This record gives sequence, structure tokens and C-alpha cells, in this order.
Amino acid sequence: MAISYTPMLEQYREVKSRHTNEILFFRLGDFYEMFFEDAEIASREMEITLTSRDGGQNTRVPMCGVPYHAADNYIAKLINKGYKVAICEQVEDPKQAKGIVRREVVKIITPGTILAESLLPDKANNYLALLHEEADELCLAAADISTGECVWATFSGSSRANTVCDQLYRLLPAELVLAGKLGDLPTINSFLAQRVSTCTITTLSNADLTLVSELPSKHFVQQELPSSTVAQAAVGYLLYYLHYTLKSDLSHINKLARVNTQDYLILDASTLRNLEITRNMRDGGRKDTLLAVLDFTKTAMGGRLLKKWLEFPLLNPLTISKRQDAIADLLDKRAVRESLKELLNNIYDFERILTRIEVGSANARDLTALKTSLAVLPEIKIRLQECHAEQLAGISIEARTHVDVANMIETAIADNPPLGVRDGGIIRTGYDLELDELRSIARDSKEWIQDLELRERETTGIKSLKIGYNKVFGYYIEVTHANTGAVPPNYVRKQTLVNAERYITPELKDFETKVLGAQEKIINIEYQLFVVIRDYIKERISEIQQTARQIAQLDVIISLSEAAARYNYIRPNLNHSRELIIKDGRHPVVERLLSGEMFVPNDTELNHRDSEIMIITGPNMAGKSTYMRQVALLTIMAQIGSFIPAREASICPIDRIFTRVGASDDLATGQSTFMVEMTEAAQIIKFATTNSLIILDEIGRGTSTFDGMSIARSVVEYIKDKVKAKTLFATHYHELTELAESSKVIKNYSVAVKERGNDIVFLRRIIPGGADKSYGIHVAQLAGLPKRIIERAQQILHELEQCKANSDLIPPTTKQQNNKHTALATVSLFSSSIADELLNIDVMTLTPLEALNTLYRLQNKA
Ligand code: ADP
Repeated sequence: MAISYTPMLEQYREVKSRHTNEILFFRLGDFYEMFFEDAEIASREMEITLTSRDGGQNTRVPMCGVPYHAADNYIAKLINKGYKVAICEQVEDPKQAKGIVRREVVKIITPGTILAESLLPDKANNYLALLHEEADELCLAAADISTGECVWATFSGSSRANTVCDQLYRLLPAELVLAGKLGDLPTINSFLAQRVSTCTITTLSNADLTLVSELPSKHFVQQELPSSTVAQAAVGYLLYYLHYTLKSDLSHINKLARVNTQDYLILDASTLRNLEITRNMRDGGRKDTLLAVLDFTKTAMGGRLLKKWLEFPLLNPLTISKRQDAIADLLDKRAVRESLKELLNNIYDFERILTRIEVGSANARDLTALKTSLAVLPEIKIRLQECHAEQLAGISIEARTHVDVANMIETAIADNPPLGVRDGGIIRTGYDLELDELRSIARDSKEWIQDLELRERETTGIKSLKIGYNKVFGYYIEVTHANTGAVPPNYVRKQTLVNAERYITPELKDFETKVLGAQEKIINIEYQLFVVIRDYIKERISEIQQTARQIAQLDVIISLSEAAARYNYIRPNLNHSRELIIKDGRHPVVERLLSGEMFVPNDTELNHRDSEIMIITGPNMAGKSTYMRQVALLTIMAQIGSFIPAREASICPIDRIFTRVGASDDLATGQSTFMVEMTEAAQIIKFATTNSLIILDEIGRGTSTFDGMSIARSVVEYIKDKVKAKTLFATHYHELTELAESSKVIKNYSVAVKERGNDIVFLRRIIPGGADKSYGIHVAQLAGLPKRIIERAQQILHELEQCKANSDLIPPTTKQQNNKHTALATVSLFSSSIADELLNIDVMTLTPLEALNTLYRLQNKA
């Protein structure tokens, strides 16, 4: 028989039945309570005590709760663990409620829709992404509700799921919503599990999909709406989910942008990762990334934009050179740059403040921060007048000063307002007449109380008589037990304490009603005035957002000119002749990390006439991969408009950078190194164009030497004949240097080393010609392998080299002999006497028993 719970729990169960995917925070007075299974999960995850409550009919129901004013921290804990939380509030005044108070879910907080400042990274976005597929076209739509950004992109073709993964890697969404069925969900799922494991996945049921078609046109202007049906639907679903969770009109989401991958230098997920552009490979943090080197931004908005610039380098030389002009302008004008930096220091993250204003969670301190930020805008515009670059002039024109908003906040909001918006103390004196009058009543009351206290002391003769106040009893007169005899008859006893009695008088009661009424009114009026101001700003959100975007751009340009000034970067030329020329280039990150040692600059020259492919040989640790990454990083820097660490450079925009470098950590994901290598090589061959840059670091390592070498060689040949992309190829297979002999576009390079006795010194210079030695044993020695192992390795190497020398003397016709010598090379790893004996055995005449005996003897020798 079904239990009938108490009316409150029945109400809870009714609400919960509509929110099965979320933990329900159910407001009871000053607490949010959780019941049943939610209580068990939440108490465990939030580390709070699980109790129980009378459920009616002699049942006890599991329960836990948190005070409403501390709820944010608890919600943050749950969201961090990937849960979603539905907030159910009392939506009528309990005093006026007939029967049980009405309650409703007022918002749902999910990882992709959270707005709590403590959970949002300052200099990165918090994206909610959504995928939707129709008729072989896949659309990714994403929004960051904390900033109001909304974007979409579509993908077709058989590898669209892979391409979408590259975008997901860039966005790093906190939550991914799947709207409807996807053709290749396993690819996306396994990518997310490996690379974006913090992403929560939400499925939108089909039933929801009917409600969305009107939404895009309510938020965005006609020109921004996508024409393709898949994108329209995806954007609609995204907005639907945002409305469903936030339950607000979200007018700050008012610009929709298409991310057209053809407009940008494509950096797929593995390239972004391998080159450590915005996240390092070690822990995914910012340290030692290109972003960290270039980031001198002063505002969170600028920080977020710089990251985006790096993830989406440009292709159009005109747009790139406009950025360069702006950076050059501020590089020249140091005084202007310095003062702009100072001014930007006063600017808060008002993009996010605007969102809080939109959803109604902004407090008075947010408004003060907005005012402080807006207050520096006129000065910024004045300083910008000293600049001539088109982009800076554009910023100065597009950024408005919003004087009306700044003035309104200045006149209305008190200095240093409190955090809460319902505690009073928000509105400045002089702003509202009624408020001022009420405040003076409240203020005068202090004097009145003091007067009354004096008068009562005099009339009663009780010197220790005090007048006090507490929330439960209101105002009271307190008299110690020793003096109660002197208390006059008009005192009415209210409360007895251990050593005193508390009384009230009719006069005090009248006073109390007046004062408390005034206090309540003050708080109400202050709150209402605050809401009016907030709504006034809300009307102007989209224009202030426009200013925020300009400030972000300015901040990024200043940041890049600051980096150029500090680190001695130069402005690269942009050419149309498919050339990549860098003189004295340096690796922007490694050069910052070297302490004491100087970074050795190197040249690069790649063109389609006589130097399309560089084969780079040289010992481990010589600097091959640093060099190759340097070329890729400088290209990316140049294409975001940044200056670069070099003496001079001329770069033709690259359409895509491919990297195939060490894949050791992919082993953890269950794929073999070789498999990863080959998959990546296949991608390169498939997608690279003549305008691409390919970086291959030791391809073919994960298999046998001959296999590996053959694959490496045929890949290079294919790139040379068919792809014709600029390619840097580091290899240990010295045999590959032969390729240069038969092709004029392949050039050999090596990293110079100097031998000094038994030691080698890395010179870090890339020089023409292949390397003749590997120096692997030297590097092993540097790495600290024991002397005994090093000596033995040298001995083995010596023997192997002898063998090779011998075999080179043998004429190719004596095939059998030759095979024996190849075998010898391997066997000499054990000992040359065993090898000799083995070579002398005539296998054809050996009996099985003799063979066994021989094996036994050789084994004992080894
Ligand atoms: P390889 O790829 O040849 O094994 P790396 O490129 O990893 O070698 O370089 C090894 C180390 O040498 C780097 O970590 C860096 O500290 C240093 N290095 C590389 N190139 C240079 C250079 N041009 N100037 C100074 N130090 C360098």
C-alpha cells in the first residue's frame, strides 16, 4: 500500500517527480532541505550529516539540509562533481499562505549554466555546447551565459565527428547537450573521455524539441540567423535549454556568430595540445604555454579574448596587418601604453556583471564595480586619440562611456555597499526623500532611547537600568534582581534572566512600532530603488556589452605590444608567395624558461621552389623538436597579428598546422603509440594542402626499424609528390637523408654538436647536411645511466659498427653469407665468440639431438 506522506513531503514528491535528473534543493524557512535518495547523495557528496524526518504514518524519511545563505558553496561542490541542482523556492509569503506554502523551481543550475563567481575561471569561458545532427550535417552550437557569447558551426563529410571534436577541445565545454541522435556518438564520447573528461553530458529528450523554433528569432537579429535547418534547430535547442535551466529572459544573449573554420588557421585538437598553445601537456594548466608568455592582459575580458585569438589565428593578411599596425602603434608610444595599462587596471569583469544584472543576481557591489569600470572609459578614449592605427581608432569610436549609467550608480548607490540586497545600506543619502525621512526617524531613535534611559534612571533611582533590544522581544528595560523593588507599577514584566528582569512600558512599545516600521520600510524602499536602477542598466546591456568587447580588444593589443617590447619581438612581413622565412627565430616559451643559458636562434626557409621539406637529424636532446615547434609557434603568433621572437621574418599565412610528435601519454588511453602515430599520419595525408605546415617528429618509431623506416620514407615521398606542404621532419633514420639526393625540394639539416673527448656539447644550431652519428650513448650518459651500462653499450656499439663495416665489404651476390652477417649483428649483442660458433654450424647436417646440445652449450656461454 502506498504511503501517504505529510502534505509538505507530498508537495516535495510532486516537484521532484518533474526533476528526476537534478538534486532538488527544497526551501523550508531558512534552509534548503533534501529528502529521500537526494538526501543520501547530497549528504555524501557535500559531506554533511544525513538525518531523518517524520514522513507521516510512522515513517522516517532521510533528510539533510544547508542554510540558504551558505547554499552557493554547497551547490558549487555538487556542480563540480557533475551533478545538477534544481532550486525550489517558496513563491508566496508564508504569512499569507492558506495551507501549505506554494513552492516552485525557480532555476536549475548545471555545470554549463552556473554563474557563481567562485566557480567561473576569470580568464577562460565557461561554455555550454550542444550537438545536433540532421541529414549528414552536424551542428555545434555553444553559449557562455556568463558573458552572453553565442556561436555555431556546421560540419559535414564522413569525418565530421572528428572535426567537431577539434572544436570541442578548443571550447572545453563544462557541459555538452546532445539534442537527438548522433551518427558517430562513440567517436565523440571517447574523445571527451580522453581529452575533456570534466564535461558533463546531458541528453535532451525528443519531447522538448517541438518548443524551440521561435527562440532564435527572439534573441537575434534576422541577419545573424543561420539559414541551414540543422543550425537553426541547434541554436533553438541551445536557447531552449538555457531558458529551461535559468528561467530568465536572457536578453544579454543577443549576438549570434558563425564560426567559419575556413576563415581561420585550423589547429586540430592534437596540434593545440602538442604545441601547448593555451594548455600544457603536463596538467592542462596555463603554465609554460604560449598563452602564458603573451598574457599581459589586465582585465578578465582581455584574458579570455587573447585565448580566443590564439585558438583562432587568422588567414586574411589584411586583418592580420591591421592588428600588427595597432600593436606597432602602442609599441612605439610607450607612455600611452603605460597609462592605458594603468587605466585598464581599474576595469572589472563587467561582461559578467552584466549577466548578473540580466538574471537578477547582481548586488550593489557589482553596480559599484561597473561604475568604477565605466568611470575610466573617457580617459581611455582621450589616450587613444594619440594613436593612429585604424583598429585603435575603431575601438575608441565603438567603445562608449555610458555616462548616464555611471552617473546613476554614482548618485544612487552608497560607497562600500553591503553584499546583500535586502539588508539596507545600499542607497546613498540624498537620493530619495522618503528614504531619508525614514532614516532620520531610525537615527533619531537612538537619541530617544538614550534620553529615555536617562529619564527612567532618574525617576526610578536605579543607576544600572538599561534599555536594550533583541529580535524576539523587541525593546525592553533591564533591571537587575537587586533593584526590582524600585521598579514602578507601569513596568510590565516580559522576561526573567539569571540576574535581571526585563520589562516593557506602553511608551516603549509605541516607540518600537514606529521604529521597527521605519526599518522595515527602509529595507523595502532600498530594495525597490535598487531594482529600478538594475532594470535601468538592464535596458542598456547590449550597448555596454559592445563596449566590453572593445575593451577586451584593446587589452589584448596592449598585451601583445607589451610582450613585443619586453621580449624583443619584431613585426613579421606577410607575403603572398608561399614562403616562410625566419631569420634568427627563437622558441617563445623555451627562451623564457632557460635560466642563465642563452637561447640559440635559428633560421628557417621554406618555399615551394627548392626547400619544401626539411629532414632534420641529430642526437636526442639536441634541439630538433624545439626547433620544429618554434617554426609552428612563430607562424601561429604571426597569424594572430602578434610580433614574433626573430630578427626578421616573412610569412605567408598557413591554412592548417599538423603535428605528429611524441605520443607517450596516449598509451594511457589504450591505443598503442604506433596506432596513434599512423592515425595521425593518415589525417595529415588526407587533409593537408600546399598551404599547410606539417611537423613530423620521428614517425615510424613504434614498429620494427625496417617497417618504420619504410613508412617514414614513403610518407615523405607522398608529401613531396602529392601534398606539397611545407614539412619539417625530424628522424633518427639517417638513411632518410638519401631522399635529398633525388629531390630538389627536400633538404637535409642537422643539429650541430661538438665532440670534446668522450663528451659532446650541443650547439643548438640547425646546419645544412645530415648528421653522421646519433650520440645516443652520450645522451644516456648525460641522463645518468650507470657507468657499467654505458661502457658495455659502447662496446656493443663498437662491435655492431665493426660488423656493419664488414658486411659493407661483402659483395651482394653472396646472399647467404650476407644474411649470416646480418644475423651476426644481432647476436653480437651477447658475445662475439657465440656468434662465431653459430656462424660455423652447418644447420642442414645437424641432428635434432646435436642441435639441442649446441643450444645448451651456447646458453651456458651467454
Ligand atoms: P630533441 O628533440 O632533439 O631531442 P629538444 O628539442 O627536446 O631535443 O631539446 C632539448 C632541450 O634543449 C630543450 O628542452 C631546451 O632546453 C634545449 N634547447 C633546445 N633548443 C635550444 C636552443 N635553440 N637554444 C638553447 N637551448 C635549446
